[in-house]
Amino acid sequence: MKVLEERIIKDGQLLGETILKVDSFLTHQVDYQLMKDIGRVFAAKYRHEGITKIVTIEASGIAPALYVAEALDLPMVFAKKSKNITMTEDILTAQVYSFTKQVTSQVSIAQKFLKASDKVLIIDDFLANGQAAKGLIEMIEQAGAQVAGVGIVIEKSFQSGRQLLEEMGVPVTSLARLGRCENGEIKFLEADA
Ligand code: 5GP
Repeated sequence: MKVLEERIIKDGQLLGETILKVDSFLTHQVDYQLMKDIGRVFAAKYRHEGITKIVTIEASGIAPALYVAEALDLPMVFAKKSKNITMTEDILTAQVYSFTKQVTSQVSIAQKFLKASDKVLIIDDFLANGQAAKGLIEMIEQAGAQVAGVGIVIEKSFQSGRQLLEEMGVPVTSLARLGRCENGEIKFLEADA
Protein backbone atom coordinates (compact mmCIF):
# COMPACT_ATOMS: atom_id res chain seq x y z
CA MET A 1 0.00 0.00 0.00
CA LYS A 2 1.98 2.89 -1.43
CA VAL A 3 0.43 5.68 0.64
CA LEU A 4 1.21 3.75 3.84
CA GLU A 5 4.83 3.14 2.85
CA GLU A 6 5.22 6.84 2.02
CA ARG A 7 3.77 7.76 5.41
CA ILE A 8 6.16 5.38 7.21
CA ILE A 9 9.12 6.95 5.38
CA LYS A 10 7.87 10.45 6.18
CA ASP A 11 6.82 10.03 9.83
CA GLY A 12 8.19 6.69 11.08
CA GLN A 13 11.20 6.62 13.40
CA LEU A 14 13.47 3.63 13.79
CA LEU A 15 14.43 2.84 17.38
CA GLY A 16 17.53 0.71 16.91
CA GLU A 17 17.17 -1.81 14.12
CA THR A 18 14.03 -3.65 15.20
CA ILE A 19 11.43 -1.16 16.49
CA LEU A 20 9.49 1.26 14.33
CA LYS A 21 7.76 4.15 16.07
CA VAL A 22 4.65 5.37 14.24
CA ASP A 23 2.93 7.22 17.04
CA SER A 24 1.97 10.23 14.91
CA PHE A 25 -0.51 8.28 12.74
CA LEU A 26 -1.15 4.77 14.11
CA THR A 27 -0.18 3.86 17.68
CA HIS A 28 -0.94 7.03 19.64
CA GLN A 29 -2.27 9.88 17.49
CA VAL A 30 -4.41 8.29 14.76
CA ASP A 31 -4.92 9.50 11.18
CA TYR A 32 -8.49 8.43 10.50
CA GLN A 33 -8.23 9.14 6.75
CA LEU A 34 -5.33 6.71 6.49
CA MET A 35 -7.24 4.20 8.67
CA LYS A 36 -10.22 4.55 6.34
CA ASP A 37 -8.00 3.78 3.32
CA ILE A 38 -6.52 0.80 5.21
CA GLY A 39 -10.06 -0.38 5.99
CA ARG A 40 -11.01 -0.23 2.30
CA VAL A 41 -7.92 -2.18 1.18
CA PHE A 42 -8.50 -5.04 3.64
CA ALA A 43 -12.22 -5.02 2.83
CA ALA A 44 -11.51 -5.33 -0.92
CA LYS A 45 -9.29 -8.33 -0.21
CA TYR A 46 -11.72 -10.13 2.14
CA ARG A 47 -15.15 -9.00 0.87
CA HIS A 48 -16.03 -12.36 -0.69
CA GLU A 49 -14.62 -14.61 2.05
CA GLY A 50 -17.77 -14.81 4.15
CA ILE A 51 -16.22 -13.00 7.14
CA THR A 52 -18.65 -12.45 10.02
CA LYS A 53 -16.43 -10.69 12.59
CA ILE A 54 -13.28 -8.59 12.89
CA VAL A 55 -11.08 -9.36 15.91
CA THR A 56 -8.12 -7.38 17.21
CA ILE A 57 -6.24 -6.72 20.46
CA GLU A 58 -6.17 -3.47 22.43
CA ALA A 59 -4.94 -0.84 22.06
CA SER A 60 -3.30 -0.05 18.73
CA GLY A 61 -5.15 -2.68 16.71
CA ILE A 62 -8.48 -1.03 17.44
CA ALA A 63 -8.21 1.90 15.02
CA PRO A 64 -7.43 -0.06 11.84
CA ALA A 65 -9.76 -2.91 12.87
CA LEU A 66 -12.68 -0.54 13.34
CA TYR A 67 -12.31 0.87 9.84
CA VAL A 68 -12.10 -2.63 8.36
CA ALA A 69 -15.29 -3.42 10.28
CA GLU A 70 -16.95 -0.31 8.88
CA ALA A 71 -15.88 -1.10 5.31
CA LEU A 72 -17.26 -4.66 5.60
CA ASP A 73 -20.25 -3.60 7.75
CA LEU A 74 -19.38 -6.13 10.46
CA PRO A 75 -18.94 -6.04 14.25
CA MET A 76 -15.42 -5.61 15.66
CA VAL A 77 -14.31 -7.24 18.92
CA PHE A 78 -11.05 -6.40 20.66
CA ALA A 79 -9.30 -8.68 23.12
CA LYS A 80 -8.75 -7.05 26.51
CA LYS A 81 -5.36 -7.06 28.15
CA SER A 82 -6.62 -6.89 31.70
CA LYS A 83 -9.72 -8.40 33.19
CA ASN A 84 -12.06 -5.91 34.83
CA ILE A 85 -14.95 -6.41 37.22
CA THR A 86 -17.54 -5.85 34.51
CA MET A 87 -16.38 -9.03 32.73
CA THR A 88 -18.63 -11.33 34.72
CA GLU A 89 -19.48 -13.81 31.97
CA ASP A 90 -17.55 -16.76 30.54
CA ILE A 91 -14.32 -15.69 28.89
CA LEU A 92 -11.91 -17.05 26.32
CA THR A 93 -8.28 -16.49 27.34
CA ALA A 94 -4.74 -16.78 26.00
CA GLN A 95 -1.26 -15.97 27.27
CA VAL A 96 0.48 -13.38 25.09
CA TYR A 97 4.11 -12.31 25.29
CA SER A 98 4.37 -8.65 24.36
CA PHE A 99 7.28 -7.81 22.12
CA THR A 100 7.31 -4.14 23.08
CA LYS A 101 6.54 -4.52 26.82
CA GLN A 102 8.55 -7.76 27.26
CA VAL A 103 6.02 -9.28 29.64
CA THR A 104 3.53 -12.14 29.30
CA SER A 105 -0.06 -11.28 30.09
CA GLN A 106 -3.42 -12.95 29.90
CA VAL A 107 -5.72 -11.51 27.26
CA SER A 108 -9.41 -12.25 27.10
CA ILE A 109 -12.58 -12.01 25.03
CA ALA A 110 -16.08 -12.60 26.41
CA GLN A 111 -17.31 -15.90 25.03
CA LYS A 112 -20.64 -14.41 23.99
CA PHE A 113 -18.94 -12.35 21.27
CA LEU A 114 -17.49 -15.32 19.36
CA LYS A 115 -19.67 -18.18 18.13
CA ALA A 116 -18.72 -21.48 16.49
CA SER A 117 -20.42 -20.21 13.33
CA ASP A 118 -18.12 -17.14 13.10
CA LYS A 119 -15.52 -16.73 10.38
CA VAL A 120 -13.01 -14.23 11.70
CA LEU A 121 -10.58 -11.79 10.13
CA ILE A 122 -7.87 -10.76 12.62
CA ILE A 123 -6.45 -7.25 12.20
CA ASP A 124 -3.44 -5.81 14.04
CA ASP A 125 -1.13 -2.82 13.74
CA PHE A 126 2.20 -4.70 13.78
CA LEU A 127 3.41 -8.23 13.18
CA ALA A 128 6.75 -8.99 14.86
CA ASN A 129 7.09 -12.54 16.25
CA GLY A 130 3.39 -13.33 15.89
CA GLN A 131 2.56 -13.80 19.57
CA ALA A 132 -0.39 -11.39 19.64
CA ALA A 133 -1.94 -12.96 16.54
CA LYS A 134 -1.27 -16.48 17.89
CA GLY A 135 -3.10 -15.62 21.14
CA LEU A 136 -6.07 -14.31 19.17
CA ILE A 137 -6.13 -17.45 17.01
CA GLU A 138 -6.11 -19.61 20.17
CA MET A 139 -9.14 -17.77 21.59
CA ILE A 140 -11.03 -17.93 18.28
CA GLU A 141 -10.35 -21.66 18.14
CA GLN A 142 -11.52 -22.09 21.78
CA ALA A 143 -14.83 -20.65 20.58
CA GLY A 144 -14.92 -23.23 17.79
CA ALA A 145 -14.86 -20.41 15.23
CA GLN A 146 -12.77 -20.27 12.05
CA VAL A 147 -9.88 -17.90 11.30
CA ALA A 148 -10.00 -16.72 7.67
CA GLY A 149 -6.77 -14.75 7.85
CA VAL A 150 -4.64 -12.16 9.59
CA GLY A 151 -4.45 -8.61 8.20
CA ILE A 152 -1.47 -6.57 9.33
CA VAL A 153 -0.80 -2.87 8.82
CA ILE A 154 3.01 -3.10 9.26
CA GLU A 155 4.80 -6.44 9.12
CA LYS A 156 8.42 -6.59 10.22
CA SER A 157 9.47 -9.28 7.78
CA PHE A 158 12.85 -9.80 9.45
CA GLN A 159 11.04 -11.26 12.50
CA SER A 160 9.39 -14.67 12.64
CA GLY A 161 5.66 -13.81 12.90
CA ARG A 162 4.67 -14.42 9.31
CA GLN A 163 6.35 -17.82 9.24
CA LEU A 164 4.70 -18.84 12.53
CA LEU A 165 1.22 -17.93 11.26
CA GLU A 166 1.72 -19.57 7.87
CA GLU A 167 2.90 -22.73 9.62
CA MET A 168 -0.37 -22.62 11.56
CA GLY A 169 -2.16 -22.56 8.18
CA VAL A 170 -3.35 -18.96 8.53
CA PRO A 171 -2.86 -16.65 5.53
CA VAL A 172 -1.28 -13.26 6.24
CA THR A 173 -2.02 -10.03 4.35
CA SER A 174 0.35 -7.18 5.17
CA LEU A 175 -0.03 -3.67 3.77
CA ALA A 176 3.62 -2.74 4.39
CA ARG A 177 6.46 -5.24 4.79
CA LEU A 178 9.54 -3.87 6.42
CA GLY A 179 12.86 -5.44 5.50
CA ARG A 180 15.96 -5.44 7.70
CA CYS A 181 16.74 -1.82 8.59
CA GLU A 182 20.46 -1.11 8.65
CA ASN A 183 22.15 2.27 9.11
CA GLY A 184 18.81 3.85 9.99
CA GLU A 185 17.42 3.20 6.52
CA ILE A 186 13.83 1.96 6.13
CA LYS A 187 13.47 -0.66 3.37
CA PHE A 188 10.33 -2.39 2.16
CA LEU A 189 9.69 -5.82 0.68
CA GLU A 190 6.80 -6.25 -1.73
CA ALA A 191 3.55 -5.94 0.22
CA ASP A 192 0.47 -8.17 -0.12
CA ALA A 193 -1.97 -5.39 -0.99
P1 5GP B 1 4.18 -9.84 18.02
O1 5GP B 1 3.11 -10.32 18.93
O2 5GP B 1 3.88 -10.13 16.56
O3 5GP B 1 5.55 -10.28 18.42
O4 5GP B 1 4.21 -8.25 18.16
C1 5GP B 1 3.10 -7.52 17.70
C2 5GP B 1 2.62 -6.57 18.74
O5 5GP B 1 3.70 -5.89 19.37
C3 5GP B 1 1.75 -5.52 18.06
O6 5GP B 1 0.44 -5.68 18.52
C4 5GP B 1 2.36 -4.19 18.47
O7 5GP B 1 1.54 -3.59 19.45
C5 5GP B 1 3.69 -4.50 19.11
N1 5GP B 1 4.85 -4.22 18.22
C6 5GP B 1 5.73 -5.13 17.71
N2 5GP B 1 6.71 -4.53 17.04
C7 5GP B 1 6.46 -3.21 17.08
C8 5GP B 1 7.15 -2.06 16.56
O8 5GP B 1 8.20 -2.12 15.90
N3 5GP B 1 6.59 -0.84 16.82
C9 5GP B 1 5.44 -0.71 17.54
N4 5GP B 1 4.96 0.52 17.73
N5 5GP B 1 4.77 -1.77 18.06
C10 5GP B 1 5.27 -3.01 17.84
